[in-house]
Amino acid sequence: MQSHDYDLFVIGAGSGGVRAARLAAQTGARVAIAEEYRIGGTCVIRGCVPKKLLVYASEFAQSFADAKGFGWETGEARFEWKTLRDNVQAEVTRLSGLYRANQDRAGVRIFEDRAEFVDAHTLRLVGANTNVTAARILIATGGRPRLPDFPGAAHCVTSNEVFLVDELPKRAVILGGGYIALEFATIFSGLGVATTLLYRGEQILRGFDEDIRAFAADELRRTGVDLRVGAQVAELTKGAGGYDLMLTNGQRIETDLVMAAIGRDPNTEGLGLEAAGVERGMGGQVHVDECSRTNVAHIFAVGDVTHRMALTPVAIREAQAFAETEFMNRPSAVDYADIPTAVFARPPIATVGLTQHAAEMKYGAAHVYRALFRPMKHILAGNAEKMLMKLIVHPVDNRVLGVHIAGRDAPEMVQIAAIAVKAGLTKTQWDQTCALHPTAAEELVLLRERAA
Ligand code: FAD
Ligand code: NDP
Repeated sequence: MQSHDYDLFVIGAGSGGVRAARLAAQTGARVAIAEEYRIGGTCVIRGCVPKKLLVYASEFAQSFADAKGFGWETGEARFEWKTLRDNVQAEVTRLSGLYRANQDRAGVRIFEDRAEFVDAHTLRLVGANTNVTAARILIATGGRPRLPDFPGAAHCVTSNEVFLVDELPKRAVILGGGYIALEFATIFSGLGVATTLLYRGEQILRGFDEDIRAFAADELRRTGVDLRVGAQVAELTKGAGGYDLMLTNGQRIETDLVMAAIGRDPNTEGLGLEAAGVERGMGGQVHVDECSRTNVAHIFAVGDVTHRMALTPVAIREAQAFAETEFMNRPSAVDYADIPTAVFARPPIATVGLTQHAAEMKYGAAHVYRALFRPMKHILAGNAEKMLMKLIVHPVDNRVLGVHIAGRDAPEMVQIAAIAVKAGLTKTQWDQTCALHPTAAEELVLLRERAA
C-alpha cells in the first residue's frame, strides 16, 4: 500500500543527502530530495572544493620564490583574482551538474526548493507552496556560519560570501583560530593580502596536538600573517577607506575586509522540527542515536546538522550507513575512531588518532617520537619552512595511537598512515617497514629516539 508520496524524502542535497538519496533510490524506493540553494551542498559549492582550489592558488608565490634556487628565472608574476574566482566557480558549477546527473540517473526526484516540516510525515515545499508526504524523512540540512555579536558584526563576510567577492582586498582580518580561519589566513596571505588573524584564546587550533599548535602558529607568523592571540573585538565600523576594528584592549585595526570564521551552527532554524516532534540539542543540532535515528522513529538525520564530526567523509559514511540499514537490509553504524583530518594551512596540518595529551589522559602515559627537519627541497630553495612529525605510541602494547604532521604534503601522508593506525599496527611494525628514499615521509619509519 502506497499511502505516502515517497518512501524517502531527503532534506538537503549536500554530501550526506545526495549519498543517501542515490543509494535508497537504487534499491527501487521512491525517493525525493529538496535543495534550497545549490546541489552539492557546502563541500562542493562553498567548502572543501573551492577552498582547496584557492589554497593551490595561494601556493604559487612561494613556488616562484623557491624556483630561483633551482635555476629558474620566472620574472615578475602578476595575480588576477577575477580569473581565479571565475575558474573556481566554473568548476563548482561543473561538479554541481555531475551531482544532479547522478541523482537523475538513480531516479531521485529533485525539488529545487526549501522544505519544512508540517507534521511528522508531511513537508511543505516553500517555493512551490505544496505539501508532500513521505514514509521516512532524512534531515541532511548541514550547517551555516556562526555570526559574531559585537556591534557592526553585520559588516563581516563568512565562508558563504568570501568565494564570490568582487575584489581581492589589500588588507584582511580573519576572526577565529580553527579550520576555516587558518585556511583563509593561508589563502589571503599567499595571494598577497596583508592578513591579520585574531584569535580569542591563548593558542590557535584547540584540540590539536600541542606541538602542532605551536608549530602552526610560528609558521603562520614566519610567513607574514599577523597572528594575535587573546584578541576580542569590541566594535566594527565602516569608514571612508574601509573598516575600523576596535579590540577590547584598545587596539584599532584598519582593514578592507573582515571575515568571521568562528564556527558553524546546525541548519535547523525554521525547519518545523517542533511540528514533527523532533528533539534538538542546546546548540540546535538534531539528536540522533548510533543509527542516525531521531526520537521520532521514521525521521533520521546525518551530517553537520547532527553536530558529530563536521567533515564530508563522515557525512557520507553516516548517509551510507543509514541507507544500508533502512533500505538495503544491512544494519551498519559509523565507527568514529581514528578519523583522519587536515587543516589546509601553510604548512598543511594533518592528524589521525590521539594527541599526546589525550593518550596520556587515557593510558596514564604515552611514548612520543618526534622529528623536526627541513625537507630536502626547501634547502636548495632557500625556504626556511620546516616539517614536524610526531608519533604517539601506547606505553605498554606499543601500538601507534596517533600521527601528527605539519608540513608539505602532510594530508597525503596522513591519509595513508591512518590505515596503519586504524589497523592497530605497533611501532615495531612501522619500524620493520623499509624507508622509501628520498622522501620526507620516510622519517615516519625511521624514528628511533623517544622524545618522551
Ligand atoms: P551540507 O553539505 O552543508 O548540505 C546541506 C544542504 O542542505 C545545503 O546545500 C543546504 O542549502 C541545504 N538545506 C538546508 N536547509 C534546507 C531546507 N530546509 N530545505 C532544502 N535544503 C536545505 N570537510 C572536509 O572533510 N574537508 C574539507 O576540506 C572541508 N573544508 C571546508 C571548508 C569550508 C569553508 C566549510 C564551510 C566546510 C568545510 N568542510 C570540509 C566541512 C564539509 O563541507 C561539511 O562537513 C559537509 O559539507 C557536511 O555535509 P552535509 O550533507 O551534512 O551538509
Ligand atoms: P572551528 O570549530 O574549527 O573553529 C572555530 C574557531 O572560532 C575556534 O578557534 C573558536 O575558538 C573560535 N570561536 C568560536 N566562537 C567564537 C566567538 N564567539 N568569538 C570568537 N571566536 C570564536 O570552526 P570553523 O568555522 O573553522 O569550521 C567549522 C567546522 O567545519 C570545523 O570544525 C570542521 O569540522 C569543518 N571544516 C573542516 C575543514 C577541513 O576538513 N579542512 C575545513 C573547514 C571546516 P575556541 O577554540 O576558543 O572555541
